[in-house]
Amino acid sequence: MENILLWGFYVMTFYAFLPGLISRTFGFRVFKKGKTEKEIGLTFDDGPDPHYTPQLLDLLARYNAKATFFIVGSHAEGQVELLRRIHEEGHVLGIHNYVHKSNWLMRPKTVKHQIEMTNDLIERATGQRSTYYRPPWGIINLFDYSNMGHMQIILWSALFGDWRIRLGAKRLEKRMLKKLSPGQVLLLHDCGMTFGADRDAPRNMLEALETYLEKGKQEGYSFVGIDKMISLTDVNRKKQQSLFKRSIISLWLLWERAFHFLFRLKVVGSGDPPAFHYRVTKYGGESVSFEDGSKVEKGDRIAELHFDNRMLSSLAATSKSPLATGIRILREVERALPRLAKQLKADPDAAGVKAVYGVTMIHRGADRLGFHVYKLKEGLFARSTRVYLRVLLKVLTNTKQYDKTRKRKSENEMVSPRVLLMPIPRLLTYDQDNSEAVVDTGAPAALLEDTLAASVQDPEITSKTTAF
Ligand SMILES: [Zn+2]
Repeated sequence: MENILLWGFYVMTFYAFLPGLISRTFGFRVFKKGKTEKEIGLTFDDGPDPHYTPQLLDLLARYNAKATFFIVGSHAEGQVELLRRIHEEGHVLGIHNYVHKSNWLMRPKTVKHQIEMTNDLIERATGQRSTYYRPPWGIINLFDYSNMGHMQIILWSALFGDWRIRLGAKRLEKRMLKKLSPGQVLLLHDCGMTFGADRDAPRNMLEALETYLEKGKQEGYSFVGIDKMISLTDVNRKKQQSLFKRSIISLWLLWERAFHFLFRLKVVGSGDPPAFHYRVTKYGGESVSFEDGSKVEKGDRIAELHFDNRMLSSLAATSKSPLATGIRILREVERALPRLAKQLKADPDAAGVKAVYGVTMIHRGADRLGFHVYKLKEGLFARSTRVYLRVLLKVLTNTKQYDKTRKRKSENEMVSPRVLLMPIPRLLTYDQDNSEAVVDTGAPAALLEDTLAASVQDPEITSKTTAF
């Protein structure tokens, strides 16, 4: 049972934090579909067309719809006024090469040149350069990525074959209405002069689009340029992510509370957050003898310690480095030990307890407090604990610090879990000296679970020498 809970905890750690790491690693993206409430992105390729593009602009204006025009440079030559009109009416201009040719048929240098020439035309007409690029037929190759620099590649979520006149306005309309939903990026054509298209196909497109816009208006949609579509999508993705994280964390805390309840964990002292929780359980490891002649053997009663998650995370959040966090945690532990001694002495459940015990990665200096530090015996438990503690360390510290820490040789030392044991007579010495030195941290409550792995059932000790 305890192990199942522990595994549940590991799994949750991965679900909550890995997606963020992955999206950071693969930051580059090609935009295809948005995540919006009621917005749709209309995009028009291959223009401008001196006959159809002005009609399209009139239609869009009637519905107060904004769109994105991926223009072919050679079609835009001599169309300065039309480009300017597109821009001034609030639409976005993007690049669709200078001639309508697939990038597979051109050298990377030629593609780059095509983009630059088209962008020059846009700049001459509007005073601004575009950052949006759509490769003809959507064919992207690796060179495009290296070529793009600051360009954003825009593909689409829906296309309809509107470049063919025989499709007919009615069928096109039917296909389009199926894609009347938030976040769609529609690919349409306002020019039929490219290879494989029909010269007057845009006539059908305009007819179908009018119905689409009308229906969209009735249903409360708004039609936006690709710039707005991307920024809305970014905002919504972030919102969704934090919602996801929040719900995972509340589940986590709920699980922790259930764990504390199920295993009757007791709080040490009244500090908020407290440093420890403990429960009385039976020792399951190998026999250990201490210098004072006392012994802990399998089956002996021990008090198993757990760091308080809020204490840990608030310290980690306000420390400059993992090392500083470790030092502050050590200080908290030192402050809490007199309380723990008092409490164990007074707790009838704790009668006959031989030692206090815990598994933790934060063990630096623990020997000076009177703990005996042992390595965990290699095995599934040690391995999984190590993975968990690594993730936890990464989550608790900011990424830069973590990377710095990783580069140090001490990494394995830092994140390798250890067993801590302190014989009760040693603990009770804390009761005599400064028992009033306990100070509340008053740190803000925060999230994560204790680092002292909660459910150790059978820790096996191989080494009897302390680690320090
Ligand atoms: Zn095209």
